[in-house]
Amino acid sequence: MERVVIIGAGQAGGWAAKTLRDEGFTGEVVLVGEEAHPPHERPPLSKDVLLGTKPPESTYLWPAGLDVDFRPKTRAVALDRAAHRVELADGSSLAYDKLVLATGARVRRLEHPGALYLRTIEDALALRAALLRQGSVGVIGGGWIGLEVAAAARRLGCAVTVVELAPRLCPRVVPPVLSDYLKRLHERQGVEIRLGIAEPPNADTIVVGVGVVPNVELAEAAGLAVANGIAVDAFGATSDPDIYAAGDVASRDGVRLESWANAQNQAIAAAKSLLGRKTPYDEVPWFWSDQYDVNLQLVGLPKAGHEIVLRGRVEEDRFSLFFLEEGRVAAAASVNAPRDLRIARRLIELGRTVDPAALADETRPLQTLLKNP
Ligand SMILES: Cc1cc2nc3c(=O)[nH]c(=O)nc-3n(C[C@H](O)[C@H](O)[C@H](O)COP(=O)(O)OP(=O)(O)OC[C@H]3O[C@@H](n4cnc5c(N)ncnc54)[C@H](O)[C@@H]3O)c2cc1C
Repeated sequence: MERVVIIGAGQAGGWAAKTLRDEGFTGEVVLVGEEAHPPHERPPLSKDVLLGTKPPESTYLWPAGLDVDFRPKTRAVALDRAAHRVELADGSSLAYDKLVLATGARVRRLEHPGALYLRTIEDALALRAALLRQGSVGVIGGGWIGLEVAAAARRLGCAVTVVELAPRLCPRVVPPVLSDYLKRLHERQGVEIRLGIAEPPNADTIVVGVGVVPNVELAEAAGLAVANGIAVDAFGATSDPDIYAAGDVASRDGVRLESWANAQNQAIAAAKSLLGRKTPYDEVPWFWSDQYDVNLQLVGLPKAGHEIVLRGRVEEDRFSLFFLEEGRVAAAASVNAPRDLRIARRLIELGRTVDPAALADETRPLQTLLKNP
């Protein structure tokens, strides 16, 4: 194998390139990215970078000097699978032996002239400039991005209204008890939350955070299997054995994760696998969000039918929720309790039945549940 081409120089593409070198691949690695920046992490864009406590360059992923042929501001426009070639927007093309699709996702747009969005470094800088004017801010969409923007906007002195079409916040990923907590948290900070409402609020700045669309078009046009994302197996291989996919664009059994941990670790597993070191990616999904002084973490995927056990005190902003399926921990959420979450992850991995009363009992250290089946 002489050349691996990676399309998409975001977090997943960056990790795929780095892993190829870490694993000792000596052929060419070509990383094609539409953006002007080297691969970087996006979580700080709605937190430190938006608040101005860290510069955009702090998000860059790589050590200087990684031996990768990085092509910024370069868009791939088509794949010719039979010829093993990628066509670029400037009319040139690149041959590949193996290809990684790490094209990520783009924001879903609304018909709202002048609205701001948040995905890229440029978006974050434009939004920060608007927030620094300290006028009123209307956020459309009460998901993670919308809520993190609301928190940053309050910190920067703006009057903030969040409108959400659903009857509760973050309806896709958290249970009602956590939605209610988030609502109270933001209201305590002076944010007006309007639920079940579609009209945009009247505000100086409108920010839209209504989800993302996976960039599957290249894969689809080339005839790869697509199901809510580019369909991959446990190793990141697509329906073409010479093409892998990872990160926000990839879906496994129809499930597509949009998280930092997934972008990094699925890309690492895919890069190793394409080198022939078959590495399954089977980590329990993990996600976090920072809002004001609250660090919220989620491990596993909570479902509507799960039994919910509370540990700690919601009113003190320090608690965990365990989601049980047939007596086993299937998912957990923690608020300012990261240690609980680490143990919950182990409990999920062990798949052991646990006593709900022991989970709820704060006088009993959680790790005893790991030791005593
Ligand atoms: C503001 C923000 C905050 C976040 N906060 C958190 C958080 O707190 N916790 C958490 O777990 N996750 C968070 N996430 C999610 C996490 O950042 C993403 O899951 C992750 O960035 C996905 O990485 P990716 O490489 O798959 O996709 P992307 O980051 O979308 O990168 C894909 C890249 O491919 C490029 N590309 C697409 N098509 C082409 C093409 N045809 N040719 C060339 N280049 C192309 C795109 O321009 C882009 O640069 C956040 C996301 C955002 C936007």
